[in-house]
Amino acid sequence: MEKSLDIAIAGAGPAGLATALYLKRAGHNVTIFERFEEPKPVGSGLILQPTGLSVLADLGLLDDILALGSRIERLHGADASSGRTVLAVRYDAQPGGRFGLAVHRAALFNVLFRAAQRQGIAIETSVEIEALDVGERAILIFDQNRTVGGRRAGPFDLVVDASGSRSKLRRCLNDPAEPRQLTYGAFWASLGWRQGFDENALLQRYDKASVMIGVLPIGRPEPGGDKMAAFFWSLKPADAENVRAAGLDAWKARLVSLWPQCEAFTSQIDSFDQLSLARYGHHTMKLPAGRRLAVIGDAAHSTSPQLGQGANMALLDAAALSHALAQTGNVEAALESYARARRWHVWIFQLLSLALTPFYQSDGTMLPFFRDRLVATIAKIPPVPSVLASMVAGTLIDPFRRIGLEEVHWPDHPAGSGSRETNFSHAGIDAAAADSPAPRHP
Ligand SMILES: Cc1cc2nc3c(=O)[nH]c(=O)nc-3n(C[C@H](O)[C@H](O)[C@H](O)COP(=O)(O)OP(=O)(O)OC[C@H]3O[C@@H](n4cnc5c(N)ncnc54)[C@H](O)[C@@H]3O)c2cc1C
Repeated sequence: MEKSLDIAIAGAGPAGLATALYLKRAGHNVTIFERFEEPKPVGSGLILQPTGLSVLADLGLLDDILALGSRIERLHGADASSGRTVLAVRYDAQPGGRFGLAVHRAALFNVLFRAAQRQGIAIETSVEIEALDVGERAILIFDQNRTVGGRRAGPFDLVVDASGSRSKLRRCLNDPAEPRQLTYGAFWASLGWRQGFDENALLQRYDKASVMIGVLPIGRPEPGGDKMAAFFWSLKPADAENVRAAGLDAWKARLVSLWPQCEAFTSQIDSFDQLSLARYGHHTMKLPAGRRLAVIGDAAHSTSPQLGQGANMALLDAAALSHALAQTGNVEAALESYARARRWHVWIFQLLSLALTPFYQSDGTMLPFFRDRLVATIAKIPPVPSVLASMVAGTLIDPFRRIGLEEVHWPDHPAGSGSRETNFSHAGIDAAAADSPAPRHP
C-alpha cells in the first residue's frame, strides 16, 4: 500500500511492539495505546523459537536478543519417581542448525520497546481501550474509569488489537471466541541461575499429569545482568489458596521430595509473593479481522504454554499483517490477506497445544500412563524425532513463505548467552550428568 495510514495499536506486548516497528518502517503513522502507566513486561520467561527469532531478525533485532537469551538445544522431561524419560526433543533432530532461545520477558520487552523508542513511535499509556466506533474510519473508545484524559481517540484507518487474551476490542467482531479457562495453570518465579543444571535445556519433572516442575535457563534480563532461571510448578489456580494456607515450607518440601536438585531454586524463595500465578485459557478466532480491525497475538488465539508458541505466533502475526498491508491496495484486502496467510499455521498449532496439554497438565491417569510408557520409545523412531523438532520449532507447516519472511540461516548465529562453550566449563561438572534421569524415590 503506497498511502500512509493512521494506525492505532492496542497493547504494548510483543505483538503490539513488533507490529508498530514494522508499520512505522513501512511509513505509516503509528500510535500504541497501553493500559499500564508505564509499558512493562508481565511474567517470567519464554522460549523464542526459530519462527519468532526470524521475525526479530527481520526487524534487525536478532543480535540484541541473542546476546541476552540462553540458547536451548533440547527439551527433556522425566517421571519424578521412576526417572523414565517422558519428553525428549532435540532441535538438531532436523538439519539446518535451528535452536530455541529462552529469554527473560524483560529482555524481549526491552529489545522491542527500545527499538520503538529509537524509531520515535508514539506510545500513550494509562489508557484502557474498551471498544471501537467504526464508521468511515475507526474511533477508539476508552474505559472512562480507568483512563486518564479524554474518552476517545481517532479517527484511524486501521486499529490493531494486540491487547492479549483478555481483549475487550475483539468483542466488536461477530465471532469473538472468548477463552475457555484451562484447569491447570502454574506458579512461576524468576530466580538466580544455579550451576548443575543444563544451561541449554528446558528440564521438567512430572508425577502423572497433575505435577510438573520446570527449570528454564533464561539468560539475562538486561546486558550485564546476572543469569536467571524461570522456575515453575504446575497447579490448578483453584488450589492456589490451599497451597498458600499449608505454608511455604510444606510446598518447598514437596518439590524437593520430587526433584532434590531443585532445592537450588526453592532455597531462593522466601515468600509466596515471589511466585506469580499464571492462568491459562484457550481460544482461536475463526476470523481475526473485521472492518478496520485486525486482531493479532493472544487476542486472536491464546493457549497453554505447553508447546511454547504464543509469543512466536504473536510475532509471526505482526510480520504477516505488515506484509499484507505492503502487498495489497486497501485496508479491507490487507485484512483478508492477513487472516488467510496465518489461518493454517495458527489452527494447527492451537490444535496441537490443546491436544498435548492434558498429557502434561490434567487430573487424568490414562494419558500420563501412556505418555510414561510409550513416549521415550516412540520418540526415537524416525521420523518422530524430526517431527517433534519441527513441532517445537513452530515449523511443522511452513509459517514463512505466505508472510514474505525468510528464515534465518542458523549456522551464522552459533551462540546465545548460554552457548555451549560457556555452558559447563565453569560448572566443573559433566554435561552428561545433568542429562541423567531423575533419581528414584520411594
Ligand atoms: C506462564 C507463561 C509462559 C509462557 N511461555 C511461553 C513460551 O515459552 N513461548 C511462547 O512463545 N509463549 C509463551 N507464553 C505465551 C506468551 O506469553 C504470549 O503468547 C505472548 O505474550 C502474547 O503476546 P501479545 O502481545 O499478544 O499479548 P500480551 O503479552 O498479553 O500483551 C498485551 C498488552 O496489551 C495491554 N492491554 C491489555 N488490555 C488492554 C486494553 N484494554 N487497552 C490497552 N492496552 C491493553 C497489556 O497491558 C499488555 O501490555 C507463555 C505465557 C505464560 C502465561
